[in-house]
Amino acid sequence: MDECRWGKITSWKLAGFGFGLGAFFGLLLVCERGFVFGLDHANLLFHEAGHPIIGLFSSRLETYGGTIGQLAFPVLLAVSFWRKGQALSFAASIIWFFENGLNIARYMADARALELPLVGGGDHDWNTIFTRWNVLQYDLNIAGTVKCIGWIGMTLPILWVVWRWWCDRKRPDESAE
Ligand SMILES: [Zn+2]
Repeated sequence: MDECRWGKITSWKLAGFGFGLGAFFGLLLVCERGFVFGLDHANLLFHEAGHPIIGLFSSRLETYGGTIGQLAFPVLLAVSFWRKGQALSFAASIIWFFENGLNIARYMADARALELPLVGGGDHDWNTIFTRWNVLQYDLNIAGTVKCIGWIGMTLPILWVVWRWWCDRKRPDESAE
């Protein structure tokens, strides 16, 4: 057991985490059509930053840069919190990573419909990518799968946190998260 790897999750911290999750999933349900206010604005920012950054290395990969960009930031956060042993922040980063899956799925599902407003009015990433891969007619199926992975990926860190809290019950309080 890696008991010392992570800071202790007390019942109070678990309650705070649960409260935050409740607000998050509430927002997710309220924001119909998959755009979560605030969070997806941040995702969009990292998406738009990703295109030119990846584009520096390869113009062919630039199309993928947006998706890479929006996934990279939660990964960097998760690695940082993992190294610090901050279990709740780590879990939140993973949840954010997979929430991006819903955001990406929404964009994928639009590959043929081309109805979403695009920032900068440029190319539609997923229309370009799916056309390149010759799978454009499967856009809704692929989007459905990614959405499903997103939901599973958001659920697992929650179970992990509850499991850690359960294991931490008898642990002394000294280590601060
Ligand atoms: Zn893009």
